[in-house]
Amino acid sequence: MTTTEKYTASVTTDCLCENEDGTPTSECFDCYEWQKDGVFELIGMWQTLNDITEDDTILINGTGMGWAKQDGYKYTNILELHGALALDGDFKIEWYWEDGELTARRWSHDEPVGTGLFTFTVMKGEED
Ligand SMILES: [Zn+2]
Repeated sequence: MTTTEKYTASVTTDCLCENEDGTPTSECFDCYEWQKDGVFELIGMWQTLNDITEDDTILINGTGMGWAKQDGYKYTNILELHGALALDGDFKIEWYWEDGELTARRWSHDEPVGTGLFTFTVMKGEED
């Protein structure tokens, strides 16, 4: 039997700041920044596993995006990957790590039940 290694990290534009008693704070203390730490951790694991450098291109494939549930793709790199799925406006993104595979899903105003899974493919850059 093999054990499945599974982690999830999420970011949301909703403020998650709390007072010590657990009630929401009246102002935001940049919680989006600390939410991103978990995402950076998963992306870092994926980068290490696949030996990804800053010269490599990452192809993002997405399905079920926007109000029309469109498919699409986008190229990015390892430095921009953490923000590549962000939208203008409010959203939530969950990143999943399962046995070395990185995927993600997004929720937003036009994506109330979430997008399909985003997948990420590394295209190695030229070595020179
Ligand atoms: Zn906050």
